[in-house]
Amino acid sequence: MSDTPSRKPKATITEIAGRPLKPSTLMMGAGYDPALSEGSLKPPMFLTSTFAFESAAAGKHHFEGITGKRPGGADGLVYSRFNGPNQEILEARLSIWDGAEDALCFSSGMTAICVLMLALCSAGDVIVHSGPLYAASEGFVAKTLSRFGITYVDFPAGANRAELDAVMAKAKAQAETQGGKVAMIYLESPANPTNALVDVEAVRDARDAAFGAECPIAIDNTFLGPLWSRPLDHGADIVVYSLTKYVGGHSDLVAGSVSGAKKWMTPVRMLRNTMGGIADPNTAWMLLRSLETVELRMSRAGENAEKICAFLKDHPKVEGLGYLGMIDDPRQQDIYRRHCTGAGSTFSVFIKGGEAECFRFLDALTIAKLAVSLGGTETLASHPASMTHLSVPNARKELLGISDNLVRISIGIEDADDLIADFSQALDAV
Ligand SMILES: *Cc1c(COP(=O)(O)O)cnc(C)c1O
Repeated sequence: MSDTPSRKPKATITEIAGRPLKPSTLMMGAGYDPALSEGSLKPPMFLTSTFAFESAAAGKHHFEGITGKRPGGADGLVYSRFNGPNQEILEARLSIWDGAEDALCFSSGMTAICVLMLALCSAGDVIVHSGPLYAASEGFVAKTLSRFGITYVDFPAGANRAELDAVMAKAKAQAETQGGKVAMIYLESPANPTNALVDVEAVRDARDAAFGAECPIAIDNTFLGPLWSRPLDHGADIVVYSLTKYVGGHSDLVAGSVSGAKKWMTPVRMLRNTMGGIADPNTAWMLLRSLETVELRMSRAGENAEKICAFLKDHPKVEGLGYLGMIDDPRQQDIYRRHCTGAGSTFSVFIKGGEAECFRFLDALTIAKLAVSLGGTETLASHPASMTHLSVPNARKELLGISDNLVRISIGIEDADDLIADFSQALDAV
């Protein structure tokens, strides 16, 4: 077509002699053609609010795509609320990790989640979600979407098939009385801080039986992705990330993403085009750098966590551990075996005692920093009952196992023996 832009990146080579290349290889080049940027080996940061059209007809062609007049979406860059070169490369690389057809980046994990839900739900609809969710996600469903006539039904993360069937039936009935549909099933696995894994395959089977494939399953994969879990392989349709955590990985940016089939991404993209909320070029550029080392960083953090949990497990001042590498429950173990390729590096430690003992432990740490968040290069520790989950009512805290003696730890990529020495001296101080 003569009025489409001629300057397109060269196609990325994704296999050699029929052998697909791994994501860690593709992170160094996919979606970027140096020839389009003066030969610059790395993508420059494109700081611009708008993009020049090659001709008036090309401008028209672009807008036909953006507005949906022509199927297939945008066919080039138009305006920076819609997309930019750094974000497009980032989105190409994010979809590689999840095995997704399409991905969209956002200015935060919560923006990604809110835009996803707003794009797929209408008044009268019901969202079925696992619990507990990240507090802001749970709040958005319960407090904000409810103002627009969207209700929810929740179930405990560890639910089995029979329990899931009952939840789907309840949601269906609720949607019928509201004159809507069950718009989406929204999962978070593992749940924080209980670490309960959701059986995504069982959710898919229950969904298929109740509604068929028209009701998408979305999952927040922030804790295990992209390395240790690929939910699209287990029946999820949409994967959500807070890229702020492991993907960004250096505790120096806030961003989010949603990925999945174009069918699900198109309405999300359209709403993002309208609302904004796309990651800025600087953040996208930093994420491209982060993605080059995400496998290295996550592998090292995972190995560190394994060593540290082995040390903590039998320590006299430790009552127990909530670590996916040491699951007692046979059903949870079975989900882990089917869904996860690694136990991650974020876990719970139950210290003998209560808040006072936890605080003495936290205050004595020297390498580990006292902060909420997770997935960074540095080790972080926090006390959920008095920090992230302070406003959770006591009864619900108890139900979720958020006790006063729970310390939440995210292991980084420091030397494992140094971390063990730090935890050891801090436990002595309890
Ligand atoms: C941090 C987090 C979010 C929110 O992400 P932001 O980037 O902080 O907006 C959502 N889900 C989970 C599981 C998280 O840990």
